Amino acid sequence: MAVRILTEANRCLQCRKPMCQEGCPIHTPIPQVIREFKENRLMEAGKMLFDNNPMSVICSIVCDHEAQCTGHCVLNHKGAPVTFYNIERFVSDAYLDRMKIEQVEKKGKKVAVIGAGPAGLTAAIELARNGYDVTVFDDNNQIGGMLEYGIPDFRLPKTFITRYQHLMQRMGILFRPNTAFGEALTIRDLFRDGYASVFVATGVWRPKTLGIEGESLANVHFGISYLANPAAHKLGETVAIIGMGNVAMDVARTALRHGAQSVTLYARSKRVAASQAEVDYARLDGAEFAFGYAIQKITEEGPVFKVAVFDEDGKITGYEDEPLQVHADSTILAVSQAPKNKLLLTTEGLEPTDRGLLAIDENYMTSVPGVFAAGDVVHGSNTVVAAANDAKVAVQAMIRYMS
Ligand SMILES: Cc1cc2nc3c(=O)[nH]c(=O)nc-3n(C[C@H](O)[C@H](O)[C@H](O)COP(=O)(O)OP(=O)(O)OC[C@H]3O[C@@H](n4cnc5c(N)ncnc54)[C@H](O)[C@@H]3O)c2cc1C
Ligand code: SF4
Repeated sequence: MAVRILTEANRCLQCRKPMCQEGCPIHTPIPQVIREFKENRLMEAGKMLFDNNPMSVICSIVCDHEAQCTGHCVLNHKGAPVTFYNIERFVSDAYLDRMKIEQVEKKGKKVAVIGAGPAGLTAAIELARNGYDVTVFDDNNQIGGMLEYGIPDFRLPKTFITRYQHLMQRMGILFRPNTAFGEALTIRDLFRDGYASVFVATGVWRPKTLGIEGESLANVHFGISYLANPAAHKLGETVAIIGMGNVAMDVARTALRHGAQSVTLYARSKRVAASQAEVDYARLDGAEFAFGYAIQKITEEGPVFKVAVFDEDGKITGYEDEPLQVHADSTILAVSQAPKNKLLLTTEGLEPTDRGLLAIDENYMTSVPGVFAAGDVVHGSNTVVAAANDAKVAVQAMIRYMS
């Protein structure tokens, strides 16, 4: 592995205007990292990556590389781009447990982070490195957010979450699990208890429904609820998945690993929202794809569809006369997520956007002074690297506010 990534590093042209870096949403200093790495300065390269993006090792695994860093490498023109993410994984993996925790001057101020996903963890690490006393709260018993409860283990081993837990401990970041804000505790309680500011990164954890008949039947599940604990669901042999986004791909691949014999993903048109890489993996795992199936209702037998008729250009020209009842032991709805509204209902003055997300100003502050927000709860379902980048920028605004 080390030798091959060295070959990969040697292929880097050290472009003066690195397109790979522009293609990376958090602008990882790719040429500099490669230089440090080639000169045998592994820890320096690791520090560069971590300082720029505390989620670096996770991103090296789960980013859509073809659309981001790798996809922008100039060597794409010659057919073989540098796969920087392999170098990033090696370096950041080595650095994560070995990094030295620098002693910083304490500010004497407490900050609360609600939500321990990539945005909350990035914010907590950045705030701690700037001398704030950070407490992270989460509704769940583990940190990680969708890294722990969404992305399947076969794509992102859960040991990474444990390693981040250790890192947080070493940095003196406190974690309070199983604490949902908007229930027994509210944001107002945090200000009462002396927190100088609050960072909200609660993500999108409410599955969107379709408003169709049958959604409450026992053979119907929501994609993110299924992924949070696949073993708790008895899906049977035949599984129908409604949706063709990345979550749907993870559901399909997980179901196939948990005993399903036949898994089909259904889309109403020919459009696939998932990245090509995820579609390819799902297909390799044995999932099937059906296009032009508009869901009407779900029965104990499975989903019922209106089946589209396509013209030669792939446009829908009409539907077949009779609806089609498909047999499936279980039907899983994976058609997107929205935020839960507990915080909005219990925080006076907290404003939503028209999509039910948290509204923020240009400084990432919500409509409540001192309460900042970032990540999926602000933008809707996005990516780990976007959440980390968002949190990084938001923390700078938060620090300006507190000082
Ligand atoms: C199945 C799946 C696969 C994905 N695959 C990829 C991928 O391959 N690559 C990629 O880049 N992105 C992927 N994503 C998207 C990515 O995981 C998210 O964009 C990212 O996790 C968002 O980070 P976040 O910190 O904003 O929110 P989250 O990760 O959702 O974390 C929010 C946290 O807030 C907590 N919380 C919620 N409400 C409360 C409350 N009221 N009180 C206290 N805590 C609360 C939750 O328990 C959770 O821990 C995937 C998402 C899913 C669902
Ligand atoms: S953070 Fe993601 S997009 Fe950026 S260099 Fe790393 S793997 Fe590529």
